[in-house]
Formats: sequence, C-alpha cells, structure tokens
Amino acid sequence: MEKIKMTTPLVEMDGDEMTRILWQQIKDEVILPYVDLKTEYYDLGLPHREETKDQVTVDAANANKKYGVAVKCATITPNAQRVKEYNLTQMWKSPNGTIRAILDGTVFRAPIMVKGISPVVRTWQQPITIARHAFGDVYRATEYRVPGAGKAELVFTGTDATTFRQTINDFDGAGVLQGQFNKDSSISSFARSCFQYALDTKQDLWFATKDTISKQYDHTFKDIFQEIFDAEYKEKFDAMGIEYFYTLIDDAVARVIRSKGGFIWACKNYDGDVMSDMVSTAFGSLAMMTSVLVSPEGNYEYEAAHGTITRHYYKYLKGEETSSNPVATLFAWSGALRKRGELDGIEALGRYADALEKATIDTIESGVMTGDLCAMWEGETPARKVTSLEFLREIRARLDKALA
Ligand code: NAP
Ligand code: MG
Repeated sequence: MEKIKMTTPLVEMDGDEMTRILWQQIKDEVILPYVDLKTEYYDLGLPHREETKDQVTVDAANANKKYGVAVKCATITPNAQRVKEYNLTQMWKSPNGTIRAILDGTVFRAPIMVKGISPVVRTWQQPITIARHAFGDVYRATEYRVPGAGKAELVFTGTDATTFRQTINDFDGAGVLQGQFNKDSSISSFARSCFQYALDTKQDLWFATKDTISKQYDHTFKDIFQEIFDAEYKEKFDAMGIEYFYTLIDDAVARVIRSKGGFIWACKNYDGDVMSDMVSTAFGSLAMMTSVLVSPEGNYEYEAAHGTITRHYYKYLKGEETSSNPVATLFAWSGALRKRGELDGIEALGRYADALEKATIDTIESGVMTGDLCAMWEGETPARKVTSLEFLREIRARLDKALA
C-alpha cells in the first residue's frame, strides 16, 4: 500500500515518562507504516525544557499558531520532588498552562465509548463532551481571612475616574472574603470556541450558570453567550440542525443525568473542573478520554487527558513490559491527523484516522485490552490482558485488514 502523503506539517510535541514510550510505539506500529508523516518536532520532555529554559514550550505553542494543528504527549509539571529528580534550575511552569495562555483556548474533553464497558449512568448512550473555560474566577481570586469585626467593601476605580463602592458585609466577628473576576474578552473567546466546536462536531451545545443568584457576574456570561450566538452562529446552527440551549446549572445537572448524551456541556471554570471529573469517572477512565484545546482563531491542540503514568514508567525502567493504555494518546494522533486532512483537503488522511479509531475500538470490543480496562469489562468473551505493544500490534492487524 502506498503511504498517505501530507502537505502541511503537524506540530509534534513530545513528552515524558511512560507516555513518551507509548508515543514512539504508536508512531512505529500504527502511523508510520501508513502515513508519510510530516511533523515539525518539539521535544517538551522535561530534560529538554530545562536545556532550553522552557523556550521550547513557547516555540511549540507559536508553531501551533502558525500551522493550526498540534498533537501533544503528556508532560511532567514539575513540583519540588521533580526539581530534585531532574536536577532543574527552576520549577518550570505547566506546559499546558503556557500553551493555553498563548493560544487562548477552551479545553474539550470527551469519553471514548466501547461496547462491554458501560457508563455508570445507564441512560448515557453517547459521549458527553465537557467544555471548560480555563481562565479566571476562583482560580485567580484574591482572598482575605477577616480577623475580626469591621466593614468589607467592593471598590472599583476606573482609569477614567469612574468609581464604584458598595458594602459587602459589616462583620461583627471573624470571617472570610473573596474577590473574583473575569474579562469580557476571555468569556467571548470561550463562547466562540464552544460554538465553533459544536459546528465542527455537529452536536448541540448546552451552557449553564447560576445567573438567578449571581445577577451581574454569571449573568454576564449568559448575556455574552447569547449575543455572540444571535449575531454570529444562529444561522449556522439552524442550517446544521443543531441547538444552543441555556439553563440554570442545577437544572443542567439533573438533565445531564437523565440524558442520552451526545452533546457538549459548556462549563464555567470551577464547574468544568468538578463536572469533568464526575463525567469522566462515570464513563469509565481517564485513559479513555480525548482532550482537545480549541482556540478562537481556529487552532487545535490534541492530547490525552491523563498524565505521564509515572508508576508504570518506573516498572518499565526495571525492564518490565507494562500494560499501559495507549488509547487516549492514539486518539490524540488520529484526531490531529483527521483535522490536518480536513484543512488540507486530504481525504485519505481522514479515512485512515477513522479506520485507526475503529480498529482500536474493535480490538477492545473483541476482548483484547490493557490492564486498566479489564476490571471494568462486562463483555461476553473474557478479557485478555495484553502489554501496550501487544495491544498496538492487535490494532495494526485489524487496521491492515480494514485498509486492504
Ligand atoms: P497519571 O499519569 O494520569 O496516572 C495516575 C494513575 O492513573 C496511574 O498510576 C495509573 O494507575 C492510572 N492511569 C492513568 N493513565 C493511564 C493509562 N493510560 N493506562 C493505564 N493506567 C493509567 O497521573 P499522576 O500519576 O498524578 O501524574 C504523573 C505525572 O503526569 C505528573 O508529573 C503530572 O505533572 C503529569 N500530568 C500531566 C498531564 C498532561 O500533560 N496533560 C496531566 C496530568 C498529569 P495505576 O498506577 O493504578 O495503574
Ligand atoms: Mg479537577
């Protein structure tokens, strides 16, 4: 079979530990035999971030802006222990945080569903995608532990000398205070990313806040979403037969549980943090979640939702063959290649990505899987636990048949 040719390079961001090993295995086993892979390679592994004083992360994010599509391996976010382990000169920032700040995006996470592993919620038949706003609110709040009686006020002084002052509370004893903020520009780009992603994936979009109680703060989110939807997206949604739907967060929670799935749920920063853990756990496992960062300018960064699987890596270093699950990382590759094919008009790349994902799901549905999935397996054939490499070779055998 002739390999599929690419025209524009994919931005390839390599990473750390076990996922770095899986990265190479995925390329060798199920990509390079089929695709004449064209990438611009950035090594975001911690040793190279240290060598370049983290410049490589910034360069990779800028390349993502230049070419539009990137695929990223999981990376270590250093803490004190990692500074020692890797002999770092600085506790480098989270690469995901750096990339997000440069691309200004929204993170979309969706479960990969297979027959034989059922969601805890019985009515869920299709994936639920969580879209999390990743800026501001409680994550950038100013807090104060009130020591005793006194007056707390909210004060704003505009550069044009506008002033606002209102009493928050007259404290008669000790307590706590918190000041949160967000920006219209960030909320707007969050909204546009969500509307764009709904169109890209042809799914309804739900958005929920607590605007009945938070009449300025949350209401601003609601209003900005509605204004942008009416002005820029309503016609496109109508044409595609999809819907934008706003409701209160408590109503949304109840509806999500009763739903069949198959929609995008846009969440404010804190709601998204909490709800994505709830939804992913209810669907099965982080190793079966896709994650993509979409910027309002239409740049895409595909990754796995899990980390570098450190515990498995230490076993691997001792010479053990591990049964780490490569599915989320493999779907990051297929997602990125499909998007590249779409943008460049290379249909063969999209067909290959579809076939690769189908071969992966078929492999699991036939009872062949990594250790993490065995515990959840309810299929008819008993589960056969294989190593990561054996699993990828099983996928390859099915892919060969499909593409023949
Ligand atoms: P983790 O790498 O996600 O792994 C936590 C545990 O979850 C593993 O020990 C393993 O359980 C299970 N697991 C996760 N992914 C798996 C997979 N693909 N296959 C099989 N089992 C899987 O989280 P962590 O140990 O908290 O973090 C490790 C490093 O990853 C940290 O340095 C952190 O900074 C980094 N991290 C990076 C990202 C990212 O780049 N996106 C995200 C999160 C964390 P068992 O050991 O029980 O088998
Ligand atoms: Mg969380």
